[in-house]
Formats: sequence, structure tokens, C-alpha cells
Amino acid sequence: MQAGPEVIALGEALVEIMRPERDSPLDAAGSFEGPFPSGAPAIFASAAARLGLQTGFIGAVGDDAFGRLFNTRLNGDGVDLTHLHVDTEHATGVAFVAYRHDGSREFVYHLRHSAAGQAPPLLPSYFANARWIHITGSTLASGPAWQSTCEQAARLGKAAGSYVSFDPNIRPELLRAASVTELCGGILSVADVVLPSGEELTMLTGRQGAGAAQALFDKGVRMVVLKQGAEGSTLYTHEDELHMASRPREERDPTGAGDAFAAAIAYGVLRGLTHHQMLRLANSVGALAVTKLGPMEGIPFLATALQDAEDDE
Ligand code: ATP
Ligand code: MG
Repeated sequence: MQAGPEVIALGEALVEIMRPERDSPLDAAGSFEGPFPSGAPAIFASAAARLGLQTGFIGAVGDDAFGRLFNTRLNGDGVDLTHLHVDTEHATGVAFVAYRHDGSREFVYHLRHSAAGQAPPLLPSYFANARWIHITGSTLASGPAWQSTCEQAARLGKAAGSYVSFDPNIRPELLRAASVTELCGGILSVADVVLPSGEELTMLTGRQGAGAAQALFDKGVRMVVLKQGAEGSTLYTHEDELHMASRPREERDPTGAGDAFAAAIAYGVLRGLTHHQMLRLANSVGALAVTKLGPMEGIPFLATALQDAEDDE
């Protein structure tokens, strides 16, 4: 791709290997399913491309079978992988995942010392056409190099007139020693759109609901979209507060719903949907994402997502 894409996501590329059954903890022998392509920013990129946005992904995989699996999937979705580096020194990142019956998750990560932990250098010209840069907290937590690369990407995006979205995606296992403010402060000061869960909104602001959204507006954020799992989502802007219920789905694999949801918000803003249409679509994309095992496997293409959103009207 000569001119850079309109949507850019960057960060950890990995595969996930998971327990197919609930309550099969990782500290005992048991069976696994996978590998499935994963990584919060990669899930976002897959969903954005499936929704028809011209999307690029920046990150690194190893020169191995898991790296090829990752590449094949995103390439098949139409994601530009010109800036997906193949790292011959490190293996592709891996996460082992087990679900408990209450929906909580147990992770074992092999990321920081894998290709996923290596932040590639950014080429400023790749950002020239950017209209949306997506950053996730899981990448900020991947080490100081990734943190400064994300901050640089956000600045390059802003210079090109792009929106910057931020999904805090705070995983206690990945927080290093840093505080949430240390990790997220730099990105929050340039983010236009923040997409937290309720718990993350409280961690970021010490407040809840409209008060928490206002605390983010005071930092320059223009839109907060609160993700509420099976209950749907709530949008806050300076002018509007809108809750949209989601049609509850049985969760085969809840990982990735939030990342796919974020891609639908990017689609809604960039393609000029009303807030109502945008939340309906994002709820549908998030809901469909949880219905299959593997964080990217349930992500719908645009026609399916639009039809599902219409069925909810
Ligand atoms: P993750 O970090 O695992 O990607 P998240 O916590 O960021 O997920 P969720 O709130 O779980 O995000 O999901 C994002 C959105 O997807 C929700 O706001 C909702 O619109 C939709 N969604 C998720 N789970 C369900 C479900 N079981 N039924 C219906 N809609 C759902
Ligand atoms: Mg999330």
C-alpha cells in the first residue's frame, strides 16, 4: 500500500491457546484448543477490516508457524500488513487462557520476551492518511518501548488530523509495577474517544458514570463509550448520554468483544452514523464476537453486523 491506511492499530500480535471447557485451571494437566490469532489491537484490526474500513496493523510476529497463522488470518480479512515485522530472533507471542464458570479468566502470557514484546520502529509517512488510530492499554503494559511507540503513533495520527481511540483493557496480570496513571496518562492526554468497562472507568478517574465521563472530558476526550457486557453500552459526549441495551448472547468466548466493539465505534464515527445507529451496530458486533471459541472467530462482516443491528430495532 503506497499511501497509508485510514485506520491503524498497533501492538501485540499473538496466538491464544485455550481450555475448551470452563473451570479447567492452568495449574493442572488438561486439553487445549487453538492456536487462535489474537492480541487486543489485532482483534480490533480484524474487525475494522471486516466492517470495510481500510485498515493497517503494526506489530511483530516470529518466523514460525504461529506467526504464519496470524498473518494468514489478518491478510484474509484485508488488513494491510506491510508493517507487520517478522522477527527472526523471537518466537510469536502466546497466551494460554482458561475460563471459570463465573466468566472470569485465568491467563499465562508469553509476551514480553516474544516477538509481541518488540515494538517496531514507526514510519511517519504510513500515518499520512490516518483518520483513526487505536491504542489499547494491553500494549502500553507490554513494556516502555511499546508505551513510547504508542504515544508516538498517537502524535503522528493527531498531526495527520486523525481521531485517537483508547481502550484501557487493563489486565492485572500485565500491569508491571506501573500505576494505571503512569501507563495511561500520556495517551489519555491526546485521546478523542475512550472505550472502558465500568471497572476501568473507575480505575482511570476514581468516579463512575457521567461524573467519570466528565473527568475524561476535562482532559480533552470527546466521547466515552462504556462497555457493559451483555447489558450493552452507554455513550457519553458533551451533548448526549445514550444507553443502548444489547440482545444478550450466551458467551462461548468473551475475549475480544470489547476490541471488536471498538472497531464498530470507529466505523460509526468515520462513516457518519447517528449515535443510536452506532451503538446498535457496536453492540451487535460485540455480541456476535462472543458466540465462537477464539477471540476473532465470531467477528462479523459488515452485512451480517448491519442485519443483526437492524433485527434489534
Ligand atoms: P474484552 O476486554 O474481553 O474484549 P470488554 O470487557 O472490553 O471485553 P465487553 O463489555 O465484554 O467488553 O463487551 C463489549 C460489548 O460487546 C458490550 O458493551 C456489548 O455491547 C457486547 N457484548 C459483550 N458480551 C455480550 C453478550 N454476552 N451479549 C450481548 N452483548 C454482548
Ligand atoms: Mg476490554
